[in-house]
Amino acid sequence: MPRAMSIRPLPVVRTVAELRAIVAGWRAAGERVALVPTMGALHAGHLSLVDLAGRLADRTVASIFVNPAQFAPHEDFDAYPRGEDRDAALLADAGCDLLFAPSAREMYPAGFATAVSVATGVSEPLEGVSRPHFFGGVATVVAKLLIQAGPDVAIFGEKDYQQLLVIRRMARDLDLPVEIIGAPTTREADGLAMSSRNAYLTPEERAAARALPAAMRYAVAALRDGGEAVDVEGAVMASLTGAGFGRIDYVEIRDGETLERLGPGPVSPGARVFVAAWMGKTRLIDNWAV
Ligand code: AMP
Repeated sequence: MPRAMSIRPLPVVRTVAELRAIVAGWRAAGERVALVPTMGALHAGHLSLVDLAGRLADRTVASIFVNPAQFAPHEDFDAYPRGEDRDAALLADAGCDLLFAPSAREMYPAGFATAVSVATGVSEPLEGVSRPHFFGGVATVVAKLLIQAGPDVAIFGEKDYQQLLVIRRMARDLDLPVEIIGAPTTREADGLAMSSRNAYLTPEERAAARALPAAMRYAVAALRDGGEAVDVEGAVMASLTGAGFGRIDYVEIRDGETLERLGPGPVSPGARVFVAAWMGKTRLIDNWAV
């Protein structure tokens, strides 16, 4: 029998004041609260975060906010997929208790002038080079969401592994009283990491994109076999190019905690392979633990 969709509509609030009033009620009842921030266009990866939240807390708030501050002018802010009704039904079915879906004006009122920046360290390489505006936008909006919702735990996907590290650093540096939890990446049957942006791929591009998880699998196996990081990076780049990926922003093997480059010789435990590459007009990112 198909799983019944939830009959309970998901409460939606659009202001910080309403969000705070509901969370305060839960807290007064002694309940633990989890937050799952998203940009919507939800897929099974997002819902796995909601599921984990439900196991870690009594109440789960999901947020949907396509944050203009983390898109550069030439990026896909306008085209980014949006569909709140569908998202709300999926969230209700996954056990979410509340959707916070603020307007841009609610998040960035006239005169908004403050930025949170993780200035050095984990924010610098990889996405920090390819998308220099990105982590400033992310750190600012996530700091705001954490202050607005005041959760005990907040869940972020390892799919955006560097983002998870940047948010951990930010929460620690600002003494935000929240535990930041990383959740494993949900993948399609061929290994491609689920992403809202996969919807941009044509059927041909989607078929070719399976070369990305295949290259990641190869890289992990080669590194475990004692392969040198530079050789493996070169081989991954060549196989992605051969499979039809155009621009490759990076293929880099780095330490999974500090994101520092590794020295020559066998890679140390805790290393990770990070890739960002373009299939047609779609930028795909992924990372695998060695
Ligand atoms: P986004 O809506 O893309 O900003 O993602 C919202 C959250 O979902 C972030 O913490 C992402 O890392 C996480 N996420 C996105 N894709 C996946 C996936 N395939 N598996 C697990 N988490 C994911």
